[in-house]
Formats: sequence, structure tokens, C-alpha cells
Amino acid sequence: MLLKTILNNCQRFKSFVYGDVRFAIEEGKKVIEVEIKPRKNSKGICSGCHKAAPGYDTLDERKFEFIPIWGYLVFFTYSMRRVECPRCGVLVEDVPWADGKRHQTKTYMQFLAHWARKVSWKEVAESFQTSWPKVFRAVEYVVEWGLAQRDLSGITAIGIDEIQWHRGHEYLTLIYQINTERIRLLWIGKDRTVKTMLRFFRFLGKERTGHLHYICSDMWKPYVKVIKKKACGALHILDRFHIVSRINKAIDEVRADEHRKLKSDGHEQILKHSRWCLLKRKENLTEKQEVKLKDLLNYNLKSVRAYLLKEDLHGLWAYVSPAWAGKFLDRWCRRVMRSKIEPLKKEARTLRRHKELILNWFKAKKAFSNGIVEGLNNKVKVTVRKSYGFKTLRCTEIALYHVLGDLPEPKFTHRFY
Ligand SMILES: [Zn+2]
Repeated sequence: MLLKTILNNCQRFKSFVYGDVRFAIEEGKKVIEVEIKPRKNSKGICSGCHKAAPGYDTLDERKFEFIPIWGYLVFFTYSMRRVECPRCGVLVEDVPWADGKRHQTKTYMQFLAHWARKVSWKEVAESFQTSWPKVFRAVEYVVEWGLAQRDLSGITAIGIDEIQWHRGHEYLTLIYQINTERIRLLWIGKDRTVKTMLRFFRFLGKERTGHLHYICSDMWKPYVKVIKKKACGALHILDRFHIVSRINKAIDEVRADEHRKLKSDGHEQILKHSRWCLLKRKENLTEKQEVKLKDLLNYNLKSVRAYLLKEDLHGLWAYVSPAWAGKFLDRWCRRVMRSKIEPLKKEARTLRRHKELILNWFKAKKAFSNGIVEGLNNKVKVTVRKSYGFKTLRCTEIALYHVLGDLPEPKFTHRFY
């Protein structure tokens, strides 16, 4: 069976035919070249208006990389025609296997992007004898296509989250759709300022913003401010995940501070290796951590008192009625304010200030419990960590949309992977 026969079976192009198939040498390596020719008497398609137009001239032969087989790289070779379009003037023709900018075929880019979702971009590049920049361009193509084609209707619930980026020096704001029937990354913005949020609402548009019922976010001031102004019709919910992670940060601060003091008094062992005992929920502790925690509870330490207060706060989420939850929160804040633990007191003050928004969580019937935003946040962290080589914001953005955007993809008649 000829390679041509296989290609005609899996990747047929209207108005073009496959010609000779031969071995060639590319950068010292043996590769397969497949010639493509226009079908006789077919007209080129203008790349401006996508309509057939009379021919003008033919350019030099170009190579387009296709999916490799049996360890050989595969290239299509084709001499692009220029057309003289009555509407657009002289332009290069459109070809169905590639877009204007890239030297890889669409099929190959989708193939690489498919694997790039499963393993790191570096591993994809190594496995298919290609380079990291080529894998990036492939993923970029698929993401750009998906973003242009995606359907933004039906968004009634969104979650706003932030991640540290660029070795922790900068922030990115991530906005998700969190409807139960559809969870996906919608938008990425640099920083976490008022301007960032305004940019998002401009992107979403007035009409779609008007359809929002629920917005989940952190207590971060710029977010709260812009949401109040731009989406006053939606119920703004401060979600459990963000509150818990703020309290955890405070606990960490208390522990680190106390550990330093104990160390300088010669009691180094007491709080050593205690970080996760104090941050994790009891049921998630390892056996070793459990022993350590039991031991810690014997000491009258600020860290221990802070830990107990944190564990008590978890009782809040069991309430059904917003009114009773409010009473519990008031009581908890009063206890913290008497505790003399400064980092926690600061958080209690913030919670008090945002009480109404916290209670909205109960009004929304807990529809957006810890699971959704937290799960997405973890996935983002893994993606960013895996993408350690991403020096630019562009790369990080493309990777995040690729993994979390739930973007549509062009359909093929044949499955290549
Ligand atoms: Zn045209």
C-alpha cells in the first residue's frame, strides 16, 4: 500500500491532490516528503475574503510539517499560488492544511497540543523529535482557535481567583464559569487591581454581565469594589475556600513567629515540623503528624490557641440558616478579638467587615462550596508548576486556557490520536 493511499484515506483535501512521496534529508536527518498539487483547473482561494479568485503567480515551494510516522518526520511540500482577487488585490491563497503564519499543518498542531495536555511540553517535544517553541506554537494555535469559536452564552455564575506568578512577584486574576453544568476558565488578567476587574467586565460585556446571578470571590478590596459597581444584580459570595486560606496564612504567621522566639530561648524542638499539623484538617493528618499534634496540644502556645480557633471556625459551614451562621461568626470574632493573637485579630476584623458577603454563601444554599474554586486553584498551581520554563505571561496564559478553558477544537473526519 502506498503512503498516498493512506493519506487519501485519512486526510483528503478538496481541490488538492497528493503527488510524489519520497525520502529527503532535512538537517542531516532522513525525512519523508509528500508533494501536494492543486487539482487541475481549480482556482485558488483568496486569503482575504475566502472566495475563489483567478491565479496571479506561484511562489517557491514551502514545507509544512505533518504527523511523523515510524520515527520519520513528515513534510508536505507545496508551492503556494497567489491570486488576483477583484476585492482584495494580489494575495496568497488559503490552503486547508495550514494557516497563514505557521509551518506546521493544522493536524500536526492539534496532535501535539493533544499530547501537551497529558504530559509536559518538553516531553512532547522530545517524544516527537520536535522543539519546545514548536510545541508552544501548536498549543497556541489550538487555543486561539478555541477562544475564537467558544460560546459564551449561559454564564450565570463566576468565580474569581488569583495566583502568584513570576516567582511570586506578580499576580494574575483568573475568572471561571462555575455553573454546575459547566466549569471552565473564562478569562486571565494581569495583576489584581481595579483596572484588572474593569477589563474583565469590559470583556464580558453589559448584556452577559446582566445575566450573572452569583459571583464568588476573595475579600480582596479591588474585586469587591468593582463587583459592587459593575454587577450589582448578582449575589456576591465570599467563598469558604478563600476564607479558610486567609486564616491558614494567619496561623502560619503566628507559628513562624513563635517558633523563632522559642528557638532563641533554646526550645527549638517544640514547634519544629509542626507547620502542616496546624494547617491541615484533623482528618487529613498523617499518623506522625497526629502524634505531633497531640504533643503540641499539651503546651499553652499561641500557635495552639490559634489552631483551636481555626478548627472551631469550621463549625460555621455546617449552618443552614444565614441568621444563625451570622451569630456564630459574631461569637467567633469576639473570641478572636480577646485572644491577643494579632494576625488572627486582623482576619477577624476583615471577616466582620464582610459579614454580609460571607452570609451570602448560605443564601446561595451553599451551591458553591469549597470544592469548585479550590479544585480549580489546585489545577492552576499544577499547570504553572509544570510550566516552569514559561518565562512569559503569554506562555502561561496559553497553557492555562489549554488545560482549563474547556475550549472547542476543530473536528476531523479521521482520528489521529
Ligand atoms: Zn479576496
